[in-house]
Amino acid sequence: MPTTLVWLRRDLRLADNPALYHAARRGGPVVAVYIHAPEETPQYRPGAASDWYLHHSLAALESALADAGIPLVLRRGPALDALRDLARACGAEAVHWNRLYEPDAVARDRRVKQALREEGLDCQSFQAALLHEPWTIRNQSGQPYKAFTPFWRTCRRAPPPETPLPAPDLGDRPAPEAERLSLEALELLPRIPWDDGLRATWTPGEAAALRRLEAFTAEALPRYHQARDLPAEPGTSRLSPALHFGELSPRQIWWQVVAAREDGAPEQASETFLSEVGWREFAHHLLWHHPDLADQPVDPRFADFPWREDPGDEWLNAWQAGRTGIPLVDAGMRELWRTGWMHNRVRMVTGSFLVKHLRLPWQAGERWFRDTLVDWDAASNAMGWQWVAGCGADAAPYFRVFNPVRQGERFDPQGGYVRRWLPALAELPDKYIHAPWEAPAAVLRDAGLTLGQDYPRPLIDLKLGREQALEAFQAIKRAD
Ligand code: FAD
Repeated sequence: MPTTLVWLRRDLRLADNPALYHAARRGGPVVAVYIHAPEETPQYRPGAASDWYLHHSLAALESALADAGIPLVLRRGPALDALRDLARACGAEAVHWNRLYEPDAVARDRRVKQALREEGLDCQSFQAALLHEPWTIRNQSGQPYKAFTPFWRTCRRAPPPETPLPAPDLGDRPAPEAERLSLEALELLPRIPWDDGLRATWTPGEAAALRRLEAFTAEALPRYHQARDLPAEPGTSRLSPALHFGELSPRQIWWQVVAAREDGAPEQASETFLSEVGWREFAHHLLWHHPDLADQPVDPRFADFPWREDPGDEWLNAWQAGRTGIPLVDAGMRELWRTGWMHNRVRMVTGSFLVKHLRLPWQAGERWFRDTLVDWDAASNAMGWQWVAGCGADAAPYFRVFNPVRQGERFDPQGGYVRRWLPALAELPDKYIHAPWEAPAAVLRDAGLTLGQDYPRPLIDLKLGREQALEAFQAIKRAD
């Protein structure tokens, strides 16, 4: 039997990988290829933290594939040239891949499929990254959904996803040798090392992702609905980079949760968790139907929003560096910089602060998250930012301005999260941990804290920022 090529992209796993599974079932040798071609998909052009994660995930994949008798060939793009060349070198007659859904990836994949088919290769693509492909969920009038709740209700009414496929078993089928780049040659790691925090936080790769899923379902899932909003607690799965890079599939998560429920995990906890996975599905649905989601507000009124001038990006820099003087915001931005991840509640608070209190464009926040998140995802990030800014589908209304002090008091009442990321504030009593500027001089002295020196004073008066945000919103409402 001739060789089958499997073009891996964001499906960096062996189990439940339909492209790989069906390639193995064809009977001949299998060669896996990863092609680094970020310039081909500018909409999906990851930043430095994401590249760091990818490097290590590819390293883990290479060794897991080798154990299964499948070589991983690394190449640079253009993808079509690389596939064509490799197919020739390996005598391959078929190419398999799992589908991506960002508009520019879809366009590229269509071109590749057509060209390879014209050259006589059997090209097949599969569904692996989502429970429901974005075009399959429609409302009763045949239109895409604009709101999450009815979208997810429709998904939940659909038949359950297929059970996950096993990892392929190649037996003894020696694969042809092919020229390949080293992982280092893809230049995914930072030139100036700033990745200590990432290394300390993440173990990329399928095996670690599966362990994380097991541990989460055993330990945190039963309390997920209560703990998921508390950033000081390990209440969420932290599976977002694994899901993004396809180290595991949403189907595997689904069936793991079903099993946990049969073992007694509370219904409310497991439903809430599945619905969060549903938000990821909804993000892809939105991006599919709004291809410019990362740049253009879904609500067209926001195209004329009076964003604030920020000479020299002074406020943007302070926000990025976690030096706004608002503890919950700064703790979140420092968690992001250090670990490449931020708790969802804090993503909402830091995002709202940028867009509303500082009145800086949400696209600037989208770009910073893109560069710094290990789980950066074109669909989820764009949806998240439009949600925060109030200009997206099913978004928080613009006039609902998160108060970062109240959010801290509510979701980080003992200040454990703030203390972890802002050690300068560690000795403050709980009462002032979210608003140190309100602490009497004696309290600051006892906590060893000099505002403006050890920790900044607030960049903006929160009440004034809120009022100005609402005035700006009135301006676009009037113009409507
Ligand atoms: P869990 O609570 O354990 O949830 C399980 C999985 O469900 C997550 O891994 C994720 O894949 C999915 N999920 C959960 N919440 C959401 C959500 N609101 N939207 C979409 N999917 C969700 N998520 C990303 O994966 N990539 C991004 O680039 C991204 N950018 C965001 C930007 C903003 C401004 C906001 C407000 C949210 C963003 N999110 C993004 C969504 C969410 O914050 C993360 O998915 C979540 O914090 C990941 O942590 P977890 O894996 O522990 O989540």
